[in-house]
Amino acid sequence: MQQVVSPVLPLEQETNPWEAQAFRFDQAAKKLNLDRGLWKVLRQPVRELTVHIPVLMDNGEIEVFTGFRIQHSVARGPGKGGIRYAPDVSQDEVRALASWMTWKCAVVNIPFGGAKGGIICDPKSMSQGELERMTRRYTAEMIEFIGPEKDVPAPDMNTNEQTMAWIMDTYSMHMRQTVTAVVTGKPVNIGGSAGRREATGRGIAVVCDEAMKHLNMPVEGCRVILQGFGNVGSNAAKLLADRGYTIIGVAEYDGGLFSAAGLDVPNLLSHRQRTGSIHGFSGGEAVDTAELLTRECEILIPAATENVITSLNAGDLRCRILCEGANGPTTVAADVLLAQKGIFVLPDILANAGGVTASYFEWVQDRMGYFWTETEVNQRLERIMTDSFNDVISYATSHEVDNRTAAYMLAIDRVAYTTKQRGMYA
Ligand code: NAD
Repeated sequence: MQQVVSPVLPLEQETNPWEAQAFRFDQAAKKLNLDRGLWKVLRQPVRELTVHIPVLMDNGEIEVFTGFRIQHSVARGPGKGGIRYAPDVSQDEVRALASWMTWKCAVVNIPFGGAKGGIICDPKSMSQGELERMTRRYTAEMIEFIGPEKDVPAPDMNTNEQTMAWIMDTYSMHMRQTVTAVVTGKPVNIGGSAGRREATGRGIAVVCDEAMKHLNMPVEGCRVILQGFGNVGSNAAKLLADRGYTIIGVAEYDGGLFSAAGLDVPNLLSHRQRTGSIHGFSGGEAVDTAELLTRECEILIPAATENVITSLNAGDLRCRILCEGANGPTTVAADVLLAQKGIFVLPDILANAGGVTASYFEWVQDRMGYFWTETEVNQRLERIMTDSFNDVISYATSHEVDNRTAAYMLAIDRVAYTTKQRGMYA
């Protein structure tokens, strides 16, 4: 149990998100000298639900999809975490994402545990009707598992405000009353929060600002490359450009764009909205996605998916700051190479916590039935993200560890403290 395994692993193991999470947990728990019993408790998810759901497809056939909902911890409050639709969703991935939610909520000190869900499906090949029926049946199967005081889902990759509206409606039908607080990331007119859509990107912009101040670097002339131009990547790009950063590159799964002078982000967003992709945009040259990540810049923001920075490319990165917009974009083996290069890492459980923080605000507003202005939401979000950045950096300095280890130690310490205080029903 106290043994922390070597980060030198075969690539297949290196890119297993659950193994990566477990390694980082063990490393931080060891440094904290965590009680042996608590170590065992916090290392595993508390509940795992697997469902095989029938869905009526548009062609009249029944298809069966496999879905998961995993609650890693409910010690500090209800489980909290997104639902992901993708062909490569796996139980280990959802487990890792659920545990990262526990640590993330603890880093920003909000009263939630950690959970995550996913369905193995190819959402791009499904109609709106098929997606709606799949979402409603998945929700019905989880009906006793979720709820405002139990576990509160939110959007993640390939799910959105519409998906949350369907979940809220299905749950409400079963409860025989409208229960808006069962999910966050809903449309604003049915209990969503102002500012939620941009919140993860806004949190990224805040921690980038703080990192620049910490490292005495000027925002003027600061070059940023992002991977992923979805909810997180596009909002981060827009807000960073508004703050004076120069967005020189955007990488999508099927190719990227580069402009040394800076991409015009609002125009790129309109182009994407018009054409459905970033390609063909006249304000930048087409480049290879993988190569773009290794171009020289001050800030690199992976905001797409897991395992994009591995032992194979970490040594080639030429950024000063790595700000993790995605969950789990960097493998354990890559961390070692980043440390050797002196890259300042803003770890995922800090950098992308703006989304769950605004989700917390949405849950609070739904339960109060009183809604804040966008300015109020943004001010509260900026305060929490700034305080959390400072907490992690002070922890790293006082314990002489890197930022990621500090974030894990801070989070594990908070969850362990609560778990111990509540006492073990064992
Ligand atoms: P999204 O589906 O809106 O966007 C993902 C984007 O990444 C898309 O533009 C897609 O084309 C691109 N992409 C996917 N795979 C890629 C690859 N291999 N290379 C390059 N581009 C690729 O999803 P999102 O909500 O923006 O989430 C992105 C990441 O951020 C995920 O890891 C998610 O878990 C994490 N995250 C999201 C939120 C949130 O509030 N949405 C909060 C915290 C963390």
